[in-house]
Amino acid sequence: MNMNRKIALITGASRGLGKNAALHLSAQGVSIIGTYNSNKAEADAVVQEIESRGGQAAMLQLDVGNSTAFARFAEKVAEVLQSKFKTDRFDFLINNAGIGLHVAIAETTESQFDQLMNIHLKGPFFLTQKLLPLIADGGRILNVSSGLARFSFPGQAAYAMMKGGVEVMTRYMAKEFGARRISVNTIAPGAIATDFGGGAVRDTKEINDHVASVTALGRAGLPDDIGGAIAMLLSEGSGWVNAQRIEVSGGMCL
Ligand code: NAP
Repeated sequence: MNMNRKIALITGASRGLGKNAALHLSAQGVSIIGTYNSNKAEADAVVQEIESRGGQAAMLQLDVGNSTAFARFAEKVAEVLQSKFKTDRFDFLINNAGIGLHVAIAETTESQFDQLMNIHLKGPFFLTQKLLPLIADGGRILNVSSGLARFSFPGQAAYAMMKGGVEVMTRYMAKEFGARRISVNTIAPGAIATDFGGGAVRDTKEINDHVASVTALGRAGLPDDIGGAIAMLLSEGSGWVNAQRIEVSGGMCL
């Protein structure tokens, strides 16, 4: 094993953007600790895919909406770092896991609001807090927001509010973690064709066409558009980028 290999912990790496980021980072020589919530088979398939290409990966179960499990999760991460990677620190944390929910403000229930808050806002805040002792000095954190925190589509209010909070959280984390040379940035994808939101962007032609029509580059995003950007933002040359919101949307709603 190459002891100089960087290690990335990616939440929600079993599918969609997290999986794609894992594949891109792995191709750059980064080892992966991914998480899944319920889809173990897909998570195992990602490990196999990475290992078949000569990379290293492990997957752990985690519900980012359940902060009471984070202390135990951090212990499990420490165990995997020791047993699989022979180290006690990882380098990159990517707070990516999430769900979509399309519901008008007038119809939004408190339980839907709380679920979005727990998964998208409280989860990344307290998960980062619990994992901080395991992140190497000079490491990096990338929080996943959304283009919807800048522009507004009906039915996205509660979700987008949480992503807005993620962007503020990023700046505060950058301020406080800078003492340990940890940079913290937000990546804000535009609409990307994944399972997200029931696969609406990928599978519903009218939605896909609409996204394409409001995107300067003329199409909806694909997972590789984001995985490649995440790998770029965590590459050697991007180390001085800090406290920024980088939108990766092909130029949506300009
Ligand atoms: P996706 O294809 O639906 O994948 C979601 C991933 O998150 C899966 O690995 C899933 O694990 C995991 N996950 C879901 N709920 C979880 C929970 N409660 N705890 C832990 N893990 C959980 O979605 P995606 O498109 O990759 O989205 C990833 C991130 O990008 C999200 O934060 C989303 O808000 C953001 N984003 C997406 C888009 C888009 O258009 N796709 C645009 C902007 C921002 P399981 O496989 O176990 O379910």
